[in-house]
Amino acid sequence: MVSRVIPVDTFDLVIFGGTGDLARRKILPGLFRRFCAGQIPSDARIIGAARGEMDNDAYREIVAEAVREFSGSHHCEDGTLEGFLEKLSYAHVDARGEDGWETLKQLMSRDGRIEAFYFSVAPGLFGDIAKRLHAHGMVSPTCRVVVEKPFGRDLQSARELNQTLAQHFDESQIYRIDHYLGKETVQNLMAVRFGNVLFEPLWNSQYIDHIQITVAETVGVGGRGEYYDRSGAMRDMVQNHLMQLLCLIAMEPPAKFDPDAVRDEKLKVIRALEPVMPHHVVRGQYMAGEDEDAHPDYRTAVGDPRSKTESFIAMKVNLANWRWAGTPFYLRTGKRMSARSSEIAVVFKPLPHTIFEDVEHGTNRNVLAIQLQPNEGITMDVTIKEPGPGGMRLIDVPLDMTFAEALGPEVEDPPDAYERLIMDVIRGNQTLFMRGDEVEAAWAWTDPIIAGWEARGDVPKPYESGGSGPVEADQLMARDGLIWREITQKRRRM
Ligand code: NAP
Repeated sequence: MVSRVIPVDTFDLVIFGGTGDLARRKILPGLFRRFCAGQIPSDARIIGAARGEMDNDAYREIVAEAVREFSGSHHCEDGTLEGFLEKLSYAHVDARGEDGWETLKQLMSRDGRIEAFYFSVAPGLFGDIAKRLHAHGMVSPTCRVVVEKPFGRDLQSARELNQTLAQHFDESQIYRIDHYLGKETVQNLMAVRFGNVLFEPLWNSQYIDHIQITVAETVGVGGRGEYYDRSGAMRDMVQNHLMQLLCLIAMEPPAKFDPDAVRDEKLKVIRALEPVMPHHVVRGQYMAGEDEDAHPDYRTAVGDPRSKTESFIAMKVNLANWRWAGTPFYLRTGKRMSARSSEIAVVFKPLPHTIFEDVEHGTNRNVLAIQLQPNEGITMDVTIKEPGPGGMRLIDVPLDMTFAEALGPEVEDPPDAYERLIMDVIRGNQTLFMRGDEVEAAWAWTDPIIAGWEARGDVPKPYESGGSGPVEADQLMARDGLIWREITQKRRRM
């Protein structure tokens, strides 16, 4: 199959925080990969902006290093990197002062092309940058702004951020990134659900027993201890990434694949979430690894021996609507787990009756497993007859729905989430970005849960580093007669 790279219209992209970690690890290498794929127009411009004093050459050197380190296999043919670097320039700009803004304006083409401003800086600077872009006449009705997580730490701060941005930009200009939505498989999930007649009739509480969403990391808090301890797994992962995944699984089919139609349906899901009972939540903090110096326990890592912030959370969540009443969603995310793995598993109900002898009722289950990382892919566990003589023996086998062989080599190296999302910004497609009301609704559901822990003085349970979370998380499932799926990087069966 021939790769279908559709070039975008030409653009100027300004990256505020263009020297920061995110810009160096994700945004710039992602742009480079799109450049290698031939998607970036020849006269497009990328302008890095930050407070550091440097000229274009010094900035290009920083970017070249980042591209070499983080762009995977794409430090491709001779001359490609040089071609990419030519598109780059640098503006010394202070978000909180007047320095550099007029120079930045001069650097922009201002010829009616698409203009995008990526706010890859702390959220506390969004308002300052927006205000100065406005004051210096750089905000046009068609320009776009991209903002990163965290989008607030509660409903009130999210509202304030939304209000700040709304003073300068229309909602149609604001692209709130959740990079989970940019993953190939997440979009494939929508294709599988809404592009086939097969699944939708079964996609409800009559046929689906429960759904598990797991996002497991092997790393600890690393150097982000101070930041992480103010946030925790609920704010850092559940309120945004896991919530977005839940929305895509649970939403009604939108009338069309259009940004607001999709986001309207996601919003309805968030609003249908029931308040979570305290005994349906398990919070944990990881203990030290075998090598305590290299892998200290959570509290040591964040430098607070009395920290009550969770590095793990498991919860049972219910949706109060016709489609899902009676089908629980089990969410789980944590650091220092046994493997790096993000997976959504849709576990169908057992057969109502089995006609086969020697098959214990309820053992054969169809499971649709959507693996998001590290190996993206979708498998469907189906029951078949074990080949060969010896009577009717049944086994479950995973049906691989990635279809790599049929689709050719490019499916093995799909664009990274950031690449795809940045190109969507340039195309003006907001489907995979969170709308302001979605973010606020997610916080409105999250806030009382966190407030409950604080009021009760809830202390997270310790869990083994390199394991699967506190034993209480297993008990949460066991009470419903269930078990968590194994956390593994490999695709496998239930
Ligand atoms: P970072 O490494 O600390 O970089 C911050 C960038 O902002 C630097 O380029 C810095 O350069 C610039 N900056 C700081 N103060 C400024 C000011 N007053 N005016 C202009 N530029 C200023 O942060 P990061 O990790 O890249 O994160 C950026 C944003 O992305 C944050 O909101 C973060 O939460 C979010 N995010 C990051 C990641 C990640 O993996 N890193 C993932 C998800 C979300 P100067 O100091 O030279 O000005």
